[in-house]
This record gives sequence, C-alpha cells and structure tokens, in this order.
Amino acid sequence: MRRILIFLLFIDHLSCLGQQPDISKYISSITGGELRQHVTTLASDTYEGRETGQPGQKLAAAYIKDVFGEYSFSGNIDGSIDHLQKFTVNEVRLDSFYIETSNARLEFGDDFRTNSMKDPFMGEICSDLVFMGYGMDDDYSGRDVTGKVVIYFEGKPSKSDQASDKQNLPAGVFVFDEEKFDVATRHGAIAAICIGKDFKLQKMITEMLKPIMESRMSFEMTNQEEGPRPFSSEIMLDHASAADLLGISEEELTGIRDKSGEGSPPVEIEEAAVRIKASRSFNEVPTENVFAYCEGTDPDKGLVVVVAHYDHLGKSGDKIYMGADDNASGVAALLEIAGVVDLAAREGNRPARSILFLAVTGEEKGLLGSQYYVDNPIFPVGNTTLAINMDMLGRSDVKHGDSGDYVYVYSNESEDSYLHEICIRAGENVKNSLHPEYRFRGKSLLQGGSDHQSFEKAGIPVLYYFKGTHIDYHKPTDTADKIDYGTLKDISQLVLSTLWEVANN
Ligand SMILES: [Zn+2]
Repeated sequence: MRRILIFLLFIDHLSCLGQQPDISKYISSITGGELRQHVTTLASDTYEGRETGQPGQKLAAAYIKDVFGEYSFSGNIDGSIDHLQKFTVNEVRLDSFYIETSNARLEFGDDFRTNSMKDPFMGEICSDLVFMGYGMDDDYSGRDVTGKVVIYFEGKPSKSDQASDKQNLPAGVFVFDEEKFDVATRHGAIAAICIGKDFKLQKMITEMLKPIMESRMSFEMTNQEEGPRPFSSEIMLDHASAADLLGISEEELTGIRDKSGEGSPPVEIEEAAVRIKASRSFNEVPTENVFAYCEGTDPDKGLVVVVAHYDHLGKSGDKIYMGADDNASGVAALLEIAGVVDLAAREGNRPARSILFLAVTGEEKGLLGSQYYVDNPIFPVGNTTLAINMDMLGRSDVKHGDSGDYVYVYSNESEDSYLHEICIRAGENVKNSLHPEYRFRGKSLLQGGSDHQSFEKAGIPVLYYFKGTHIDYHKPTDTADKIDYGTLKDISQLVLSTLWEVANN
C-alpha cells in the first residue's frame, strides 16, 4: 500500500513538473554586469537621488520605461498608458528653518534638528533666549520665562537627585526629553533648545532624517491656509552650535556645564534676542509608478505582482542621496528578472499566471506608490495571488559583515504554507552559493517599512526580499561602488526561480 502511494506521488510530481516551462536554462542569463549597469545609472549624479516629483525621479521613470519598452510586455492597461500609472500627491515642503541671534544663524539639518515624529513647527518666534542650566524644574524658580525661548543642557546635573533622567542609554544616544520640554512649556516657554552632550550620533541621524523632514508627502489634502503651528518637542543642537548662538566660546560653555553639574544654580548667561522661523510651502506633486504586464497562458489563475521602489531621498543642499542599495539594487533585479521572463515568453515558455512588474514611486515618503496601486489597482486586488517586494539587496547588515551571500525572505504566510514549500524548492533549483534566511511569520509583517505592507493591508500574501540596513543607510554615501553585485545576481536568480514556481503552481 505504502509503495503504491509513493508511486502515485511520484507520478503526480512528474506530471506537475511536466506542465511547467523550464526556467533553469534562463536563470544563468542574469549576470552581475547588467545589474551593475542599472545600479550605476540610477545611482548617478544625473538622477539626483530620485526624489518623488523631482526631475531625477522623472528621469528614473523614463529609464525604467525604456527598459520595459524593449520587452514584449504590455504597457497600456485600463487607463494606464505607456507603462506609467500617473497620480498626484500633496507635499508640505520646508523652504527654510533657522534660529538666529546677533551672534549666529543656525540652519535646520546642518546645525540643529527637531523630533521627526512630532508635528513640525511652522511660523516665526521673536523673543528672548534664556539659559536655564540643566532645565530642571527647580531651575525655573524665581524666573519668568513666559513667552521666551529656553536653552539647557541634555541630561541632568550629576549631583542632582531629581528623578527625571529615565534613560540608561549608552553615551551619545539621545532621546528627545519630553519631560523637560513639558517642564519648559508649563513654565510658559514657547520653545526649548537642548544642548546635546555627544552629537556624533545626532549628526548621523540628522543626515538620515533631513531629506524626509524637508518634504513630507501624503494623499491627504493639506490646508494651505493653515496658520502658525507651535513647537511640540525640543530643538536639539551640539555644543559648538550652542556656543555660537550664545556668543561664547566652546570652552566657556564646557566650563559652565561642569559648574552646573555640581548642582549649583545655573550660571548666568546674558539673555539674547532670538528669532526662530520656519516657512513651508504646499504643492501638488505629480508622480508615477512604472509597470510592464506579462500575460500568462492562464490569466484566470490570477496575477503575481513583483515590486521594487525606484524613488529615493533626493538631495539636500549639495549632497545627493544616491540610493544605490536603497533601492537601485531592487530595481536592477526587477528589470533583469522581467528581461528573463520576456526571453522565456518569446521562446514560447510563457508562465501560466500573469505577472505585473511594478516599479513604484513615493516609498520614502510613506509607501505612497504602492498604496496608490493597491487603492487603484491595474488588476483586481482579489485576483492577486502574491506580491513579491525587493528592497535593499546590495549590501550586508552588521550581523553578517563580510559574509554577504545571504538574503532575508520575509512572508506573512506560515512556515507550513505551500508558499514556503515553493520557496525552498525554488531555492534548490538555483545553483549558486546564496543562503536565503526564510522568516515565514504566519502573521502580519506590518513593520520594517517597505512596499509589501501596502499589499499586505489589502489581504495579499507577500514575500519580502531584504538584506538589512548598514552604515550608509539613508546617507549620501549609499553609492553604486559599494554594492555586492555577485550576491545581487544570486538574489535576482533566486527571486526569478521563486517567481517562476509561483507563476506556474
Ligand atoms: Zn527602500
């Protein structure tokens, strides 16, 4: 009985394989050279960091469109023509944001930052700048800061027994101190400036967040008539900038910090007139997703969407955020995988299910392109079997260091799902040295921030290929020369193999 069963299973297995066009001979046609060419182009100065709505993003869309245009796939479907799905988003752009005294003028992002999680300040404050030592509750006694801007040191004086230092964080790690901000506003201050102890990490975070904070986008209508908005959190700056603002030397400021740390009352620094001003403009920004549609031999079986975002952070001042890993790497994989499916289709090996290759915009602004697609799908969401998202495939995270030939494969399906089985099988069909790390969660992946989230929210199973973050993440130094093209090739081959299994099973 058992033998018969095994025999039947074997027959079943054979017949299953027999229906599936063989992809193995195509897998090796994905090479590192072509991937390198795509990444090097998209992450070059010409594309200016591909910020949503900016000229660099339009150039990148045109580049992807041209590549898709060489394939035998359709680019005209249901109102979306010429490979473009066009739409508009609303932008609030920070045109200028500065703090000025008679001693210095500090610029947002270069000299100070604010809490990116809080509502941004908008308007103009002309007042006095009052030095408050460590800005503890006691420091305010006998002093009137109503309508003024306070400035104080981060943390608490070492001899203080006041229990406001809730963090036991390593040196340099700074968390905006809601408590001190509340103390300041309770005493009537209209803005609070915190002088950081160690600003190295702050500088790094600021570099990452600056472009995001300079331009916020959403589908919500912004109220253009909106008036001034007060501060909802501290302003953070370093010792040098604080000294400039106060018109003293850095050494003097360090001396004052030490004295304040001894628990004595804050050393007086003369009040100075201060102006803080942030102007924002409201814009409607046209942008576009770029797609190519490969119709399967049995389109009733549904659709697989393969996604990679092609936008990045743009530029800030004269710094270009190249976004080679994030996510020219995923787009390069998308273009090459589509190319191989095109080759197979031309040779009569068309997949059973249809495939939509989708390069999305607006990811860095909050997954806007994928959200728009899911809300206005080119093909019914209910007919979408799987969404495969690729984001950041070119570098290794800290955990892996030099041993770079791995990829995380996240899914909202469970480990005993058919999808997991397909992934394992597809991996075995690829003859390269890659070590995929499967993380089938069997539940929502709604964290980690990339476009699969939009598909997940719409109830679609997802696969998310990702190598993790690294030292150049969201920095101008995410450049094409640092990409591991060998591993990018291996991952592209794995995704192709998996896509093929899914599209034919
Ligand atoms: Zn990304």
